[in-house]
Amino acid sequence: MRLKNVQYTTFSGWIDPPTDIAPALQGKHECDVAVIGGGMGGMATALRLAERGKDVALLDAEFCGYGASSRNAGQIAGAPGGDLRMLRVLSPKRLPPMVRFAENAANFVEDLMKTYKIDCDYEDNGMVWAAVSPIQMLRVRTLAAILRQAGGHGTVGTNKELGIPGGFMGGMRETRGGMLNPGKLSRGVREALLDSSARVFEQSRVIDIQHENGKVVITTAEGELRANKVVLSTNGHSGEWDITPKNLSTPAWIIEVETEPIAPERLAALGWTSRSGVTTQHQIMENYRLTVRNTIVFGVRRLESGANYPLQPRSPDPGMVRELAEAFAARFPSLSDVGIARSWGGWIAFSASWTTIAGCVGNDVFYSIACNGHGLAQAPYLGSLIADSIVDGKRSADLESVWDEKSTYPPSMVLNPFGLRAVWLVDRLCDKFNGSRRRARAAVS
Ligand SMILES: Cc1cc2nc3c(=O)[nH]c(=O)nc-3n(C[C@H](O)[C@H](O)[C@H](O)COP(=O)(O)OP(=O)(O)OC[C@H]3O[C@@H](n4cnc5c(N)ncnc54)[C@H](O)[C@@H]3O)c2cc1C
Repeated sequence: MRLKNVQYTTFSGWIDPPTDIAPALQGKHECDVAVIGGGMGGMATALRLAERGKDVALLDAEFCGYGASSRNAGQIAGAPGGDLRMLRVLSPKRLPPMVRFAENAANFVEDLMKTYKIDCDYEDNGMVWAAVSPIQMLRVRTLAAILRQAGGHGTVGTNKELGIPGGFMGGMRETRGGMLNPGKLSRGVREALLDSSARVFEQSRVIDIQHENGKVVITTAEGELRANKVVLSTNGHSGEWDITPKNLSTPAWIIEVETEPIAPERLAALGWTSRSGVTTQHQIMENYRLTVRNTIVFGVRRLESGANYPLQPRSPDPGMVRELAEAFAARFPSLSDVGIARSWGGWIAFSASWTTIAGCVGNDVFYSIACNGHGLAQAPYLGSLIADSIVDGKRSADLESVWDEKSTYPPSMVLNPFGLRAVWLVDRLCDKFNGSRRRARAAVS
């Protein structure tokens, strides 16, 4: 692959920043519910609260949609993330509710697009858990069986049966969800939010959150907001404040890469007839998907941790882009002459259990971690469930299934530089055993 003209960006390759950024919070304000963070999670929370008649204000450090919500691979997952084999051993009772939660999250985002008429190039073609080796195929079959036992759905097949390229042996297609342009989705939800009764303050980084005389006081550089309740929705950034439960999540940096446009006849020759996005079965997955601009977006393969708060804007490391290009050349040998046009990355939050979590500190500071790589649908769904619980004073069955009363979390054993390097090495050893890496190296210039 050609890497000579890669454009590195600190925002996203899917969309440009908005030109109508809302004014910052200035002076003293009050509201009933404050939402901090304007990603898909925070925006869906504030939108739902506004729809249900609450006096709600949302603060974002930059602008709504600045974070992972506009930067991700755009895969709406219809099944839970994390290792289902581990979950079956450690907490089998949690599996069926988690499967139901994931399917309902995909349905929720589809409804959101319809309700607000958001055109974001959505294709409801399900995501494929793809195998690149016989061992990975065995893993897919095991996971598919666990998913089905827990009430989920998925179709196992060969690459031809699933309509995915020959660089993947086969896999399992999720029956819910699909792929979209996440930049356009976030922009559409932001527009709906700006049209709602919610007050939106952009360019308003929250630097402190304190309890004071029965209220929660939120401080920014130029203003103060006093609220009865607060919802923390800043994803990987939520460890910035002392009020967040310790070890709630660990931030990790991941990147995506986009090829130059590829001639339609070359794309057609791949046999990617389903157009379904694929994620490999490595410990740290690789993801590949087509776009409406005849490009392929692909990424992840490595998680980078070790950042101090506050997390800083960042652009991808060229060495990582090269590594992803090598992987691409191995999976798509017929496209190994294609150039890479751009690369970007984002911060995401991982919980130590790699499962979705929600809870409340005291009775007024709500938090959630819905990422673990599946937050595009789960973060907004969870946000809407938290909003409903604030209005109704009770939790729905789906919110209950991820609710944590204790708010105490162990540190992650894996999400540290040493653990992540070890996991990456295991993946590379498996690739080496599979024999594709040397060929791919030669194909990158
Ligand atoms: C490269 C990449 C690929 C991914 N691929 C997928 C995928 O294909 N499918 C999937 O389901 N998920 C994917 N994810 C994960 C998904 O994007 C996230 O889980 C989801 O967008 C999280 O939404 P959020 O609202 O919680 O957080 P974010 O979208 O990150 O929003 C957080 C917001 O908080 C604001 N903020 C931060 N600090 C402060 C502060 N101090 N004060 C005020 N505001 C603050 C930020 O400006 C930001 O707007 C991917 C993520 C990345 C980075």
